[in-house]
Amino acid sequence: MKTIIEQLSIGQMNKATIKKAGDILKSGGLVAFPTETVYGLGADALNEEAAKKIYAAKGRPSDNPLIVHVADMEALAIIAETISEKAAIVAKEFWPGPLTMIFKKTSAVPMGTTGGLNTVAVRMPNHPIAREIIRAGGGYIAAPSANTSGRPSPTEAQHVKEDLAGKIDLLVDGGTVDIGVESTILDMTVEPPMILRPGAITKEMLERLIGEVAVDKTLIDPDSKKAPKAPGMKYRHYAPKAELTVLEGELSQVVKEINRLTEEKTAQGFKVGIIATEETVEKYCAGNVKCIGTREDETTVAGNLYGILRDFDNDGTDLIFSEAFSTGGIGSAVMNRLLKAAGQHVVYVEE
Ligand code: AMP
Ligand code: MG
Repeated sequence: MKTIIEQLSIGQMNKATIKKAGDILKSGGLVAFPTETVYGLGADALNEEAAKKIYAAKGRPSDNPLIVHVADMEALAIIAETISEKAAIVAKEFWPGPLTMIFKKTSAVPMGTTGGLNTVAVRMPNHPIAREIIRAGGGYIAAPSANTSGRPSPTEAQHVKEDLAGKIDLLVDGGTVDIGVESTILDMTVEPPMILRPGAITKEMLERLIGEVAVDKTLIDPDSKKAPKAPGMKYRHYAPKAELTVLEGELSQVVKEINRLTEEKTAQGFKVGIIATEETVEKYCAGNVKCIGTREDETTVAGNLYGILRDFDNDGTDLIFSEAFSTGGIGSAVMNRLLKAAGQHVVYVEE
């Protein structure tokens, strides 16, 4: 299959490209497009055969359900059996936006889309290109991240091309995404509602609105032997080819230890990469040092995380050492993805 690549800018939306994307989706094909979180790989969510193609293109395990993307509340009513008062309040505040909610599904949603579950995950993105494409494609678009399963999620069209060229019909290049980590997933089928995956919409933001919100324990305790409630969270996701280690502790001690390890591993012949921040980047003496953003504003770190992991792969890096990040605000989402990329390999640096 030859993948068509077309560029679209938000300011000047080419109607012909949107129509092409819509026609491909309606006829059961695959279209990758930007959303505000990461690039999505779209297929008609109500067409089981189309949804199956997503699993094949990504190499995604078939028990890992897809998020259905909609453009309006009318569409939600067709696929969700019940919309609780709390869900309506959350939707009003955070949709369109980087939040997914889990509902009991109606019979309109095939089991092939939900990985055999009776629930359906739904998101209403706010990216103008995504919204136009969802509408043009019939209104219900399953769109997991547009990467090969297990690789870092794509934050620009080039990443999608690396993983999926030749496997999908169309790639709509809308530039670099805004947030850079996947949506928060909030399960509305339990009481209190439970966060199954941290993202840009935080527990604190949700609690201000609807009171108590629980967090899936397996997210907080990485040593937990229990399976996470979002089936996809059990896989070693987001992983670079290099072996990644996260170092926690007092920052100056962490820098010292990364410098020591880098010297040691470089001498042994390994190509070493370092994930640094604006606050520390000048303090590293060796290795391939990349600055991921500033600690003053961790949204910058979220935005660069996946791109940096891919850059290290392209550089042929063997080992990556990363500083840890805070676990407040979007920092929780960053640490969750970083620890998954590291296969939970963390070193605690003592003073
Ligand atoms: P991705 O589309 O790659 O961002 O991954 C979607 C995530 O949503 C995976 O971790 C899935 O396991 C999770 N998910 C999708 N549908 C459901 C559902 N019905 N219940 C729980 N988790 C879900
Ligand atoms: Mg994904």
